[in-house]
Amino acid sequence: PFDVLIIGGGPAGASAAVYAARKGLRTGLVAERFGGQVMDTAGIENFISIPETDGPKLAAALEAHVRAYDVEIITGQQAKELFPAPQPGGLHGVALESGAILHARTVILATGAHWRHLGVPGEEEYRNKGVAYCPHCDGPFYKGKRVAVAGGGNSGVEAAIDLAGIVAHVTLLQRGSHLKADKVLQDKLRTLSNVTVLTEALTTRIEGNGRNVTGLTYRGGDGADHHVDLEGVFVQIGLLPNTGWLKNTLRLSDFGEIVVNDHGATSVPGVFAAGDATTTPYKQIVIAIGAGATAALSAFDYLIRVPVA
Ligand code: FAD
Repeated sequence: PFDVLIIGGGPAGASAAVYAARKGLRTGLVAERFGGQVMDTAGIENFISIPETDGPKLAAALEAHVRAYDVEIITGQQAKELFPAPQPGGLHGVALESGAILHARTVILATGAHWRHLGVPGEEEYRNKGVAYCPHCDGPFYKGKRVAVAGGGNSGVEAAIDLAGIVAHVTLLQRGSHLKADKVLQDKLRTLSNVTVLTEALTTRIEGNGRNVTGLTYRGGDGADHHVDLEGVFVQIGLLPNTGWLKNTLRLSDFGEIVVNDHGATSVPGVFAAGDATTTPYKQIVIAIGAGATAALSAFDYLIRVPVA
């Protein structure tokens, strides 16, 4: 069995693997796809100490760093079920889709998350070419330009407020008849002169010139199609943690995030979690990397304190 079995090969999982291996622990890592969301990212300018890189480059660097250590890496495999140890110090089991079951004294869950897509024509075609999902990441790329935010919940309104300070103009589209964000955010939004709020506005198409986004079409409350000229569309209709397979095994938040404490511990002794799959606020690479280190050090602490059952 492994001392530490990590599920996920994004920034959080990679960081946990390096920290665990450096403690001399027998470490395994299972990932559907090494690199995780980083593989879907174009420019990255907020990974501190590297002013500019791109997703595939950073993902390759993460993988090379993990491979520099004695870590057993299993890629192209999905974890299907977690069987928590019957008592602290016992062995946990993780079933893979292949049917194999891996055993480990500690498990670190780092399965990340994915953004909910609008599912409209143009969204896939122009991803990273005007269609964006992360205002902290991509906002500065739209300095002085016109953008839309699709989604009138907290994340959509936060994104609109954030972007309004950077871009020329923001159009916020909410499909329902009113915004769902907290009142304080709505009040703040209304003070901003370069934001237009459209309710009962269902985004139906993202348009471009083959290279970049040039506009979007929405169906209004009047039933008619309307067009907006712009350079960017931020989709803010939900970040979904990849935790469906963990339901009923450990404590999840109302949003499906793995509930962790400040040591990265979950509700199951010996099972830790890190990154976008957890309740840790702000889903960013540097934060996921820090959380991966925390989870691995907590796993080490558990292994030296809890006797083998
Ligand atoms: P992820 O990167 O999501 O990795 C999850 C890992 O788990 C993957 O290896 C996946 O294959 C694996 N996995 C999932 N489920 C299973 C399973 N059941 N079994 C086995 N393996 C599984 N952040 C920034 O800081 N700067 C940016 O510029 C930036 N730009 C972004 C642009 C885009 C388009 C997107 C989508 C995100 C961006 N982010 C950016 C956010 C950043 O990518 C995430 O915060 C970060 O990748 C989270 O790391 P993670 O390791 O928690 O999860």
